[in-house]
Amino acid sequence: MALITKAIRGTQDVLPAESYKWQHVEQTALAIARDYGFREMRVPVFEHTELFQRSVGETTDVVQKEMYTFEDKGGRSITLRPEGTAGMARALLEHGLHNEPLPVKVSYVTSCYRYEKPQAGRLREFHQFGVECFGAAAPQADAEVIALARTVLNELGVTGVALHINSIGCPTCRAEYHAALKAYFAARKDELCETCRERLDRNPMRILDCKSPACAEIAAGAPVMLDYLCGDCRAHFDAVRACLEEAEIAYEIDPRIVRGLDYYTRTVFEFVSDALGAQSTVCGGGRYDGLIDELGGPHLPSLGFGMGLERLMLILEAKGAKFPAPPRCEVYLVSMGEQAARRCFGIATRLRDGGVSAECDTVGRSLKAQMKYADKISARYTIVVGDNELESGRARLKNMETGETDDILLDDSLYTTLYTKSLDRQLADMTDLFGEAVE
Ligand code: ATP
Ligand code: MG
Repeated sequence: MALITKAIRGTQDVLPAESYKWQHVEQTALAIARDYGFREMRVPVFEHTELFQRSVGETTDVVQKEMYTFEDKGGRSITLRPEGTAGMARALLEHGLHNEPLPVKVSYVTSCYRYEKPQAGRLREFHQFGVECFGAAAPQADAEVIALARTVLNELGVTGVALHINSIGCPTCRAEYHAALKAYFAARKDELCETCRERLDRNPMRILDCKSPACAEIAAGAPVMLDYLCGDCRAHFDAVRACLEEAEIAYEIDPRIVRGLDYYTRTVFEFVSDALGAQSTVCGGGRYDGLIDELGGPHLPSLGFGMGLERLMLILEAKGAKFPAPPRCEVYLVSMGEQAARRCFGIATRLRDGGVSAECDTVGRSLKAQMKYADKISARYTIVVGDNELESGRARLKNMETGETDDILLDDSLYTTLYTKSLDRQLADMTDLFGEAVE
């Protein structure tokens, strides 16, 4: 029985008292993405396993250790998405979006699934806000997605986050680098973990991303890709840096960033927080110029990022960032007697239809208990309706914060009064949040 009332390890519920924070974060991120020209795209939570093997890469931790893969009743191998890019790329190709004027810019808020050891900021079901920009090779595109991620973090009030960038080159310059890496790691092969010993031949760069402490220590002294960049990749990287400087976006070069997914080329970047402990990367992304050809499409230089929303929430909490006030009930209709209860339901429905949040009794509470409940849910106003009020067509509107009361008529004027109060209230909330900015 216990299993039925216990969520799966590494998953999290968002309870009603907290969901407004998630809505704020998601809506802010998607709205900023829109300002940057990215439109939302939605794709299924599962895809053919081969899609992730091919795009994320056979030798990555994600594919080798972390995927939720199962056979469906039709005998197909299905995988719950471990990241957002592969599904977006698949949908782009399937619907021929790349035949429209380029670039194709998409955004998403999505759940991801990885079988990892659950800890703070590391879950088995987590959520990402992400964007992909398909068909843009120029360094301005790299700077644009980086700027977008930064705007989202800034707008939400995140502080203490640093941008780290690196270039991991292209297949041309990587050949020489792979050889240097192989020689370096081969000399200490016996000290590597079993997975990395296998990776040595197939994909030595993956060793740089291994989480095992022994491998990480050896990797710290390994040659870095920046020293092996070909002329084109060097020029591209320099131009990305120049664009960031033009936009006054501070960055550090971190030659150790390789990213955990195989599809990356050239620019890779991370936003790293001082508030997250070991799981310090809140946003990771980069360029993947070879991915679309790898999936059978045309050569389409592209890039994107994924921002971990649980980690973002942890930072916002740690930094005491401000959220807009959670929505509150504007008016609670307190009823005495069956006829009044019906009338209150009618009034509440009409108010709600007009966009005013209203509640009335649905559990048969006494007058006193309804007043107490209205207080508990922080209703701003109450209106008590009983036989007298029904007869006279008048009632009292009570401001629950100040205790002041106003005489009101139970006719059309009631709705106008409450719409106006609700609008005034919303404006006041926005002024609280944005200070002087809202007139
Ligand atoms: P890490 O090195 O921390 O494992 P990663 O390189 O595997 O991260 P990406 O695949 O780049 O992460 O995913 C982008 C972002 O998604 C990360 O920066 C992080 O914020 C978030 N993320 C990744 N895995 C998890 C997870 N298991 N739980 C919560 N958030 C995650
Ligand atoms: Mg990982």
